Amino acid sequence: MAEAFAFSHVWEQPSGLSWLVHKWAHHSSRLLELSVALTIALGFRTAAPTMVDLIATLALVAFVLITFVLFRSHNRRLCESCASAIPLNAAEQGERYRRRFAVAHASTQPKLMGAYLIVLFGSNALLLVPDGRYGWALVQASMIYLISSHATHRRLQPWCPQCAGGDGGFEQFDEAPDLPRGGRLLV
Ligand SMILES: [Zn+2]
Ligand SMILES: [Zn+2]
Repeated sequence: MAEAFAFSHVWEQPSGLSWLVHKWAHHSSRLLELSVALTIALGFRTAAPTMVDLIATLALVAFVLITFVLFRSHNRRLCESCASAIPLNAAEQGERYRRRFAVAHASTQPKLMGAYLIVLFGSNALLLVPDGRYGWALVQASMIYLISSHATHRRLQPWCPQCAGGDGGFEQFDEAPDLPRGGRLLV
């Protein structure tokens, strides 16, 4: 859908609570990455869990769920902050981040994502064996790269060769967005 990406459909400047939600959504990828890092840090705690830990964990889960919903919603369009953050050398960066584009596209494949989720949840079993938490942390940290790949892909999607070739997973545009193609911002 063209309106999924065109600047003529960027979010209107919000105010009050909607401003907070807008900012939360705009920074959702960073917040999710921080949440994963915090989860890994909690996994390395050696003290016995307390009631405070339990409440903090539940709060973190709720925060992650809300942030994930906002992340998905925000991924469908560019807000003004996103638009103004597009680098002048976007075409060059598009070349540099081809691996992240490939990861973002691979994550739209249900079979691959299913296998990844099995590994992700299965890695919790590593917490039961001595020093297994290092392997668990490594698997969990892969989520940071996945989230980052999605954020990079959305920011530079007009320069993603797989989207340009219609190589699936992401919404295609009926018409080209009014974006620079030669490393120069036209807005
Ligand atoms: Zn944004
Ligand atoms: Zn793409």
